[in-house]
Amino acid sequence: MPARKKIVILGATGSIGGNALRVIRAHADRLELVGVAANGSHQELAEICREFHVRHAVLADESAYREAQQANDFPANTRVECGVEALQALATLPDADIVLIAVVGAAGLRPALAAIEAGKDIALANKELLVLGGAHVIEAASKKGVRLLPTDSEHNAIFQCLEGQAEASIDKLILTASGGQFRNTPASELAQVTPEMATQHPNWSMGPKITVDSATMANKGLELIEAHWLFGLEPDRLEVVIHPQSIVHSFVQLIDGSILAQLSPPSMTFAIQHCLLYPDRAPGVEPTTDFRKAFSLDFKAPNFSRYPCLQLAYDALHSGGAAPAIFNAANEVAVERFLTKEIAYLDIPKLIEHSLDRIDWPDTPSLDQLFQIDAETRSVAQAHKP
Ligand code: NAD
Ligand code: MG
Repeated sequence: MPARKKIVILGATGSIGGNALRVIRAHADRLELVGVAANGSHQELAEICREFHVRHAVLADESAYREAQQANDFPANTRVECGVEALQALATLPDADIVLIAVVGAAGLRPALAAIEAGKDIALANKELLVLGGAHVIEAASKKGVRLLPTDSEHNAIFQCLEGQAEASIDKLILTASGGQFRNTPASELAQVTPEMATQHPNWSMGPKITVDSATMANKGLELIEAHWLFGLEPDRLEVVIHPQSIVHSFVQLIDGSILAQLSPPSMTFAIQHCLLYPDRAPGVEPTTDFRKAFSLDFKAPNFSRYPCLQLAYDALHSGGAAPAIFNAANEVAVERFLTKEIAYLDIPKLIEHSLDRIDWPDTPSLDQLFQIDAETRSVAQAHKP
């Protein structure tokens, strides 16, 4: 029997993390979980360590780590550590073949770079880290010759469609978007949207931040920037189409007019399994789309005035430099402030626009400069009263 592929999951207790565990459980003959990290949910992380016999665990949050020590809830042979450095060390675990980056937000960037530096293949669910440090991540990955396997469903679809295609044959990439939970809500009612409403998605079950991003389409904006870095295409060759059923995960249009697509139900297990087993295939963990049942697929162009965050993301991508990093940090703060009811739903794009207008940046920012700009954006977006 061939050796099992050894996996580390950063963000094991989240929505992507949970789907990855389903894939590993179903393919225990091929996949082995060797390390897990989470922010604070120590009981859940301990349970994962027990079930999968994981030897290395990290809790990023110090108080959760202390609670876990007091509760003594991890198995005796799991080594539990705490903090940002421990997270980076876990990403470079000598044992690991592939690191799934499924933490949320810019916190994923340093561990991702550490994993690449250590020569690990990356399954990349976290898009924010590419939006912040895309140029540096892509350069490091190509220098080290590691694979960056796109786990975000749209990018995974594009990655699958691109296999075997010459670069010169590609015309454009078309990312599908559900349009979010308010795609049919009258524009006049959007001002009243509450966090409770914005954290329910009609098709996907995901973490709270990405669910709000999906409503505003900031998520698709981040994904445009992510696609730019992963596939090396300029913004005028990246399009978005609204597809409410979330079954076609994206398209690749070739120069002869042929359009390729990847389809599967709206569940992340398909993309995650593709990445973890890559380049092998095996039966999926849940049933796929069944064409014996009647269903329809709809597509329509997005209305940018309804989704100002999407327009702001295109603008940031056109500007280049640190503009995408500002877009991302301002959006993270705006979503947090919206979820704690400090600002209204329609204030989210206002905070992003204000931050993009206010913050200057050098032509080709270094990684340290990007982190500084990220921090500066957070304080500007935090202080702004829309
Ligand atoms: P989530 O909030 O459900 O889970 C986040 C996980 O990361 C949790 O395990 C949490 O404990 C951990 N975490 C958070 N901050 C951390 C830190 N500083 N250090 C260590 N661990 C930390 O989020 P999610 O929905 O699973 O999304 C994760 C990432 O994947 C995001 O970047 C998101 O954009 C992307 N993504 C998610 C989906 C989805 O279906 N959920 C789809 C595509 C892409
Ligand atoms: Mg996506």
